[in-house]
Amino acid sequence: MNQTELQKLVEEISLKYFYLPFRHEVKINNRMTTTGGRYFLNDHHIDINGHFLDEKYRSDLVGIIKHELTHYHLHLAGLGYQHRNRDFKNLLARVGGSRYTPDIGLRRRQVKNYLYECEDCHFQYPRVRKVNTRKYRCGRCGGRLKLVRRNK
Ligand SMILES: [Zn+2]
Ligand SMILES: [Zn+2]
Repeated sequence: MNQTELQKLVEEISLKYFYLPFRHEVKINNRMTTTGGRYFLNDHHIDINGHFLDEKYRSDLVGIIKHELTHYHLHLAGLGYQHRNRDFKNLLARVGGSRYTPDIGLRRRQVKNYLYECEDCHFQYPRVRKVNTRKYRCGRCGGRLKLVRRNK
């Protein structure tokens, strides 16, 4: 599914379940791992996690879109658009949106690209991102960290 098809799908779901048009932009975000989508308060656009655009996640994708559209329509209507608000809970349940990001293993797929080791106690710290070793020290003994392996 490409950007245009996704935009069309969101517009269709908006009319079918919310009886209101979606007049803003949907963007594909391939860097998201732990969330399915995100609604932006400032310009009203929606980001959708690109991993869910695969045909096999179709029902998950619809649930995510309904969730983000619930934020969208409530926010534009000046109602409680946050997760903890009653308006949000009610509308989400009514349209059948997903409450949590479906687990498709994205979390587990996070690769630890860097391996740091304490120069003193030799405890190792696998990390997804690069660490500023001048700023961060070993959490156990306060020793200096050094990079011992790098996967990318
Ligand atoms: Zn949400
Ligand atoms: Zn240490």
